[in-house]
Amino acid sequence: MLDYKHAIDFHGHEGPFLALGYKIGEYARKKLKPSGIMDLRALIFLKKIEKPYTCVLDGIQCSTTCTLGKGNIEVREGDGWRVEIEGKNGKVIFVIKEETIEYFLSRDDLERTAEEVRENPLERWVFLQDFSN
Ligand SMILES: [Zn+2]
Repeated sequence: MLDYKHAIDFHGHEGPFLALGYKIGEYARKKLKPSGIMDLRALIFLKKIEKPYTCVLDGIQCSTTCTLGKGNIEVREGDGWRVEIEGKNGKVIFVIKEETIEYFLSRDDLERTAEEVRENPLERWVFLQDFSN
């Protein structure tokens, strides 16, 4: 996995969607304790598969090692904003709140908003369903 600084380098810029994706992946790793790079699988539903929403995907890739190249991350269009991460030790589901999306879109300072994402508990931004063992 990449640390957050390298995730910014990988993605090319910092922003709240990247920061949130990274934080979601970090949480999933902590709960699911993957033993190898293929242990986790991520399935992501987005209402719109376009920027800036898709920036969340790079955050998830960097913090989980679920990557497009390895095929253990999948993105689908859906009627909500949902991330499901699954491994040998169970599954965690993150539903990104509509108010989170609206808040991110209303902010001009991407770096400052990314900082807020990192400073606040994940539950401020998403509804969590934890099915980890
Ligand atoms: Zn971005």
